Amino acid sequence: VNVLIVYAHPEPTSFNGALYALAREHLEARGHAVETSDLYAMGFNPVPGYADFDRPDDTAVFRIQVEQRKAAEDGSFAAALAAEQAKLARADALVFQFPLWWFGLPAILKGWIDRVFAFGWAYSRNERFDSGRFRGKRALVSVTTGSPAVRFAEGSLFAPMEALLYPFTVGTLNYVGIDVLPPFVAYGVGRVSDAERRDYLTAFRSRLDGIATETPLPFHSLSRFPDPLGETIVPG
Ligand SMILES: Cc1cc2nc3c(=O)[nH]c(=O)nc-3n(C[C@H](O)[C@H](O)[C@H](O)COP(=O)(O)OP(=O)(O)OC[C@H]3O[C@@H](n4cnc5c(N)ncnc54)[C@H](O)[C@@H]3O)c2cc1C
Repeated sequence: VNVLIVYAHPEPTSFNGALYALAREHLEARGHAVETSDLYAMGFNPVPGYADFDRPDDTAVFRIQVEQRKAAEDGSFAAALAAEQAKLARADALVFQFPLWWFGLPAILKGWIDRVFAFGWAYSRNERFDSGRFRGKRALVSVTTGSPAVRFAEGSLFAPMEALLYPFTVGTLNYVGIDVLPPFVAYGVGRVSDAERRDYLTAFRSRLDGIATETPLPFHSLSRFPDPLGETIVPG
């Protein structure tokens, strides 16, 4: 299948860098067609603005969703965004590789989503969740943490990883119709032994083997939730 790996870590020799290199090499060796977005290496700009659009609609007041919808309609996204959108459109499966920063995504990855998953291109009011444009695509979220797994247990100091990743897995990926596989989490990567880090790499390899076949997490269905203002939501 076509796989897009989106990778957000500033240092190639990091453990994230090792997971990213492994994903690229392993998926290619298994015969998948792999494309990558190495966001720091690309110097990806996470800040939305007029530079996102070749022909902005209103240069006095910046209304991001209005501009995004217009660019989606007349094909006027800036080249850097159009290139990322084309990669996303081609992908059957996505791999996201990043460290947990402040209980969430590194800003460069969050900015990639804000700019690339544009209104009118990735979603509209009637095209979300099970009516989403990207139904049929699947995603494997691979995250590393500094803190050990016990911190993320139910009732512990932090919160379960499922809750921390919810804005991304459900609020972003499911939102645009993408099926999400159970995340791959390498906990406490700076504190575990070399052997445990090797085990993480081995476990990640087998998760990559299931990228096209593994059963995704339960999907949120828009049709089960009536519009709060009483309007009929017409899929499509
Ligand atoms: C801004 C910020 C916010 C953060 N917020 C959080 C948070 O909310 N929660 C939390 O838990 N953590 C947090 N952290 C910590 C962060 O999640 C970890 O530093 C990160 O996950 C570690 O991943 P890394 O790739 O940077 O590891 P590295 O530090 O690069 O590597 C970890 C270890 O793996 C070794 N290694 C590298 N390559 C290999 C290889 N090929 N094989 C075997 N070993 C290898 C390295 O030598 C090193 O010993 C935060 C960090 C920052 C900077």
